[in-house]
Amino acid sequence: MIELHRLRKTYPGGVAALDGVDLHVAPGEIYGVVGRSGAGKSTLLRAVNLLERPDSGTVRVAGQELTALGPAELRAARRRIGMIFQQFHLLSARTVAGNVALPLELAGVARSQRAGRVRELLDLVGLADKAGEHPARLSGGQRQRVAIARALATDPAVLLCDEATSALDPYTTVEILHLLRDLNRRLGLTILLITHDLGVVERICDRAGVLDAGRLVESGPVGGLLDEP
Ligand code: ADP
Ligand code: ADP
Repeated sequence: MIELHRLRKTYPGGVAALDGVDLHVAPGEIYGVVGRSGAGKSTLLRAVNLLERPDSGTVRVAGQELTALGPAELRAARRRIGMIFQQFHLLSARTVAGNVALPLELAGVARSQRAGRVRELLDLVGLADKAGEHPARLSGGQRQRVAIARALATDPAVLLCDEATSALDPYTTVEILHLLRDLNRRLGLTILLITHDLGVVERICDRAGVLDAGRLVESGPVGGLLDEP
């Protein structure tokens, strides 16, 4: 579902954030990338939807080579790749429903169809009763649920999670991880996540890899990986 081939990215100033990364994530898999701060995790994740364009190498998602697409095709392809963030990135001026509707508006979905889809999405994340609230009135876990609903609005095949539970307390973290696992199973959603929290990987990932100085130094089933000294 996600195929990264020989990805390289050097920022101005000379740091090789990605130094030849190969990674395959199978359809329906939950894959976690761990590694210390500065290892290149964020650059790697953002390369998957080309928020960060690699200097060289190829990115394929669902069989489509994103690195070969023009702007309009890339915009369409990105609708099939949802993303959530540590700080949620909700629009504070919009209600919960307004936030979830945004990607539908951008995709040109007619107003008459948006309302039903928004209701369906809020049901999916257990927030049907919060449609009219503003994000400021929600807890961190509820805000991340809104962000998940928004990320799934255009029915993506892939969800990218950028430290998605790092701003949450341990109990809320477990709730959000359960939701992600549930969505993975019910929708067949492929999930690629980055985290500094090995507990997250242990709880929900099928496989994981360790990124070190821009290189994926290990990759495999979670059990074996975390047993390493
Ligand atoms: P991680 O997510 O693992 O902390 P990042 O991908 O954010 O790692 O960063 C990898 C390396 O690239 C680090 O050395 C970081 O300082 C550097 N880096 C990240 N973004 C930029 C940028 N916009 N300009 C210059 N260097 C950057
Ligand atoms: P982080 O620092 O957590 O990696 P950023 O603040 O850099 O995340 O956000 C990544 C990009 O995604 C930004 O350009 C941001 O505006 C954009 N973004 C966030 N949420 C949405 C959304 N719902 N729809 C479109 N773009 C979004």
